Amino acid sequence: MTSPDGELNERRRVELEKSLREVRERIDAACRAAGRRPDDVGLLAVTKTFPAGDAALLSDLGLTEFAENREQEARAKVAEFGALRPHANVRWHMVGQLQRNKARSVARWADVVESVDSPRLAEALQRASARALESGERQEPLDVLIQVNLDGQSGRGGCSPENVPRLAEMISRMYEIRLRGVMAVAPLEGDPDVSFDTLLRISERMRQDFPDADQVSAGMSGDLESAIAHGSTRVRVGTGLLGGRPLVSP
Ligand SMILES: *Cc1c(COP(=O)(O)O)cnc(C)c1O
Repeated sequence: MTSPDGELNERRRVELEKSLREVRERIDAACRAAGRRPDDVGLLAVTKTFPAGDAALLSDLGLTEFAENREQEARAKVAEFGALRPHANVRWHMVGQLQRNKARSVARWADVVESVDSPRLAEALQRASARALESGERQEPLDVLIQVNLDGQSGRGGCSPENVPRLAEMISRMYEIRLRGVMAVAPLEGDPDVSFDTLLRISERMRQDFPDADQVSAGMSGDLESAIAHGSTRVRVGTGLLGGRPLVSP
């Protein structure tokens, strides 16, 4: 504990413990305000741009769900995390835009891909997951969420709301990937309440056809209260837990 490394680590642990407590308090308060139970809303730590050591400390503090948005960065970090905490039972989520040529790699480390937005990506993930299952690189089918585009503009990722039912239907017929719900990022402009309400309606419609697809991944550091008020089942928090990121990630 007297080595400089140990001290640095301890300082970071104290910092993360404090921010985790604050984020949990916000989630609890938002749940109370919405008449929901705090354990209905999961917390996903978005560790992008931060080192694997931070994920290790957060896992020591009890977090079990982690997310990344770049495949290459994630792949290395998940391996490093595994070396740091070989016995930790955590799940890794991919939440960033994913190119089809990365499907093979993502199927080796991700438990969940939250950013599925096209039939071609779904097919690529199905093939990749099948191969990873066959080779023993994964034991379970890959859970997927359909990312819904709520700002009416293409280019930022996400399936347009009118195409969601068709994509859901298609994924539901695949064995190696499992449809678990929807994900969205609120548009930069506009009222998050309106966006999250739209997402909730899309989720409700999906659950009528596919009751297991009941997850709603919505809400980030800046808008988690609004997302929880509109039925989010998992908030994705980066800066609120880990601090500010450099504007341009490495
Ligand atoms: C970075 C990121 C987050 C976390 O955002 P913060 O504002 O740092 O909490 C959530 N979701 C996605 C898809 C992200 O890329």
